[in-house]
Amino acid sequence: MRDQKQGRRPVQPDTSRLLLGRFLSSALEVGGTVLHIEPDRDGAKLRIRSGLELRQFHTLTREEYGEIWQNLADRVGNEELTPFYDGSFPFGINGRHCRIRVSLVPTPFGESVTLKVNAREDKVLGLERLGLSPTSLVQLRNLLARNRGLLVVAAPPGSGGTTTWVSIMESLCDGTRKVVSIEDPIEVSLEGVQQIQIKSVRDCPDRSVTFERALRSVLLQDPDVLGISLLKDLSSGHAALSGALAGSLTVTRVHAYSATLALGRLLQLGIESTLLSDCLAAVLAQSLVRKNCPACSQPDPNRNLEGLKGKSSRGKGCEQCHGTGFSGLVAVFELLINSTPIAKLIEDRRSGREIEGQARIEGMTPRASVVRTMVESGEVPLTEYLRIL
Ligand SMILES: [Zn+2]
Repeated sequence: MRDQKQGRRPVQPDTSRLLLGRFLSSALEVGGTVLHIEPDRDGAKLRIRSGLELRQFHTLTREEYGEIWQNLADRVGNEELTPFYDGSFPFGINGRHCRIRVSLVPTPFGESVTLKVNAREDKVLGLERLGLSPTSLVQLRNLLARNRGLLVVAAPPGSGGTTTWVSIMESLCDGTRKVVSIEDPIEVSLEGVQQIQIKSVRDCPDRSVTFERALRSVLLQDPDVLGISLLKDLSSGHAALSGALAGSLTVTRVHAYSATLALGRLLQLGIESTLLSDCLAAVLAQSLVRKNCPACSQPDPNRNLEGLKGKSSRGKGCEQCHGTGFSGLVAVFELLINSTPIAKLIEDRRSGREIEGQARIEGMTPRASVVRTMVESGEVPLTEYLRIL
């Protein structure tokens, strides 16, 4: 009672023994990164994404679905579980500490739940280990050495965008700069970064932490680097732009498939093209592609592409790759650096195709070309090249 009065939650039970905890542990054991709980007439389907594969994992009865829901409510607070809840809770297994990002969407049979596993050791890779080409790595380092401008990390959901964003943020904590981030929610705790959690307090707007309010205070704290975790609406978009306009190096992230689509997304959020063209330093876009299993990869005589140097290869499936033919993922990047001609195209709201054409003239290697080279070296199958086109 005393805790409730003070707005604190009682100590949480050890969820690892509860049904939700058991499924999360099993998902982690098989390398799962996202657990999907999709309610239907009879209960719910449980599916796991590991790498790029989504597979059926378990079928829940109505009672089990109810039990998982209760476990979740105990974890994040019953009053918090609104229809479009987006938040997270800590979870530990075998000495491994993760944050589980929870997202809810209402369906006729109950809330559809996704639980995304964020383990710090998986997320903070360091710039060298992200998989950038040597040229892009040098270009990125030069961009990060600047004191101002907007750097946007673009990736579709589940394609490693968080990993890249947190690795960039951590690399900026070199002891010489004040690094602040505004996040919704904080997915990975970062040493050296003052992380601010967006928080909406129902019935008490004065205690809510919004992007606007957080930004006002942050700018008074003299930041050199400002991070905005993900742009998903006008208020987060304005915060990122204001940070860049105020003179901080601002690093943000957006869900978009390519560098030029990320620019389109920013304009769609309501950011003015003139301000964007002035502030933008660069867009770093990334995708994940599946690598051939080295144990069973062989030339693929049935699939080839005109002009491809050498034959493509693919894994035929073996014990080592559980019959999938794939082994692991690799991130591929394209780095679109703003220039005077590109800024003019953005300001005039010209098409992504035109902007990409100009970026290629200025030396940008698109992701498709990067993957094509990987196909030629036998590292990835042709199907992955066709998939990301
Ligand atoms: Zn294999």
